Amino acid sequence: MAIPRFWREIPSRYNLVGSRCGNCGAVDFPPRVVCPRCGRTSVGRMERMKLTGRGKVVSFTIVHDAPKDFEMMKPYVLAIVEMEEGVRLTSQVIDVERADVKIGMPVETAFRKLGQEGEAGVIHYGYKFRPAL
Ligand code: ZN
Repeated sequence: MAIPRFWREIPSRYNLVGSRCGNCGAVDFPPRVVCPRCGRTSVGRMERMKLTGRGKVVSFTIVHDAPKDFEMMKPYVLAIVEMEEGVRLTSQVIDVERADVKIGMPVETAFRKLGQEGEAGVIHYGYKFRPAL
């Protein structure tokens, strides 16, 4: 069941807050408590930082066979976006014609409804990307 994990991630999903290692400067999103590169030496030296929300498409695919929750919007563009901070995120790209999505295209985050959980109507929101102006 994905809900507990989802609720734990809400603050960072909404604010796009990652972590930066005080040792090597590496940025991670979602934020980490320990730097995956430095290990123990980074404990207590991790800082929270807000990502700019800007990046570029480094890879993408058109998803024709969408999972059930996404059915109403298929097919859609799923891209790997490299943020200005160097972190890579996988997310949907919206507000663009599929044929217009290109490698290297500048994008920015947009917060949209991700899906709805059953009849209780818990609506998931999170980040997606749209072409940057
Ligand atoms: Zn580090």
